[in-house]
Amino acid sequence: MTHSPVLAARELRWQTRLFLAGEGGQPLLTATLRAPHALRQEDAFHQAFFACCARLEQALHSAGLEGRLLLETRDAEGPARHYAVADARAAKQAAIRFEETQPGGALLDLDVMDMDAKPLSRADLGLAPRACAVCGARPAAGCIAGRAHDSHQTEAAFRALLPRVEDEAARAARLALLSLLYEVSVTPKPGLVDRADNGAHDDMDFYTFLRSAAAIAPYFARCAALGQQPGIPADALLGRLRPLGLMAEQAMARQTGGVNTHKGLIFSLGILCAAAGRLGEKRDAGALCALAGQIAQPALEDAADASHGARVRQRYGDLGARGEAAAGFPSALAALPVLREAMHKGEGPDRAGARALLALIARVRDTNVLYRAGEEGLTYLQQGANDLLARDIPPEELAAFSRQVAARGISPGGSADLLAVAFFLHLYEGDA
Ligand SMILES: [Zn+2]
Repeated sequence: MTHSPVLAARELRWQTRLFLAGEGGQPLLTATLRAPHALRQEDAFHQAFFACCARLEQALHSAGLEGRLLLETRDAEGPARHYAVADARAAKQAAIRFEETQPGGALLDLDVMDMDAKPLSRADLGLAPRACAVCGARPAAGCIAGRAHDSHQTEAAFRALLPRVEDEAARAARLALLSLLYEVSVTPKPGLVDRADNGAHDDMDFYTFLRSAAAIAPYFARCAALGQQPGIPADALLGRLRPLGLMAEQAMARQTGGVNTHKGLIFSLGILCAAAGRLGEKRDAGALCALAGQIAQPALEDAADASHGARVRQRYGDLGARGEAAAGFPSALAALPVLREAMHKGEGPDRAGARALLALIARVRDTNVLYRAGEEGLTYLQQGANDLLARDIPPEELAAFSRQVAARGISPGGSADLLAVAFFLHLYEGDA
């Protein structure tokens, strides 16, 4: 019997669980890959397994159930992770909720033993048996015993689950890049680079922004992965993000010939990506911005910066991008419903983006505008934005206003950054 590696692995796994629960004197949760044997050694399924485990760990942690990793194994049965948990019944309930409701939850088998090494079943909690991953019938055991689905059908059903398992960090990084591309693509924009012209700028165009965005894309993934590391407290994250941000600024400068295309967004979206990595599955823009505000707090105390924003801060008392981040992005959150409602009504990113951008221009004291055009320039810009908003933004008038602002040499870059942040928050809350 032990000549079969699968049977040997199965027996070893059972003995391992008994040992860990019995010796540890603590309830044990074991996560294994739920997939046909033919798929259990494939890399794609292993990656999905570990991404699902990372989510599971966050879910256990935020439910106060501990979830301390005791042992990780890979054998003929596939990968497994064993966790010490605080309460067997609560952990079993959380495990079932995870299996039933989380993206990719169908790829995990979550087994719980109490501190006497006795397994808990769904029936012990008065819950229905698990559904079949192929047809949805309960119990799944009936389909398996009755060989209801052939191997092609079964493998196809499990492969179809893979795209649903995208690691939260990878998702946040993808959405950060997408929000940069959406922002620069919105056309027309007053004074800013868009698909039609370069606004008030003579040192950059649309393609400068595309090169810059491509150069800094890997940075967002690093920020999000840093946020996922549970050992770093929120107020220590900024110090760890800074060297990554400097590297991203250098990568940007190499692609733009030293022009500042995305410095503000390297700061803002880097913090938001770290927050998204930490927040896990929650996907709530308010909670995300509150956590990002905690992460950004130390930036307010750092006075050694000589960017436009800092110089204007001395002159006008405004806090610029740092103040916005440390306050939990109140302006971007205020623009979010404007953007969301327009997009849900079926308006494209050009029209919805223009609405949100004008709302931001009308609201924020844009430090880029103050630095180049002073209070007078800001008043002119804000009056124009309010006027267009009051008349539902006639397209020809928006185009004319955009040209006039550019001709005056005004570029509301701070508001444009906040539009990218609002796009990020909108995408973050959505299903995509
Ligand atoms: Zn079935």
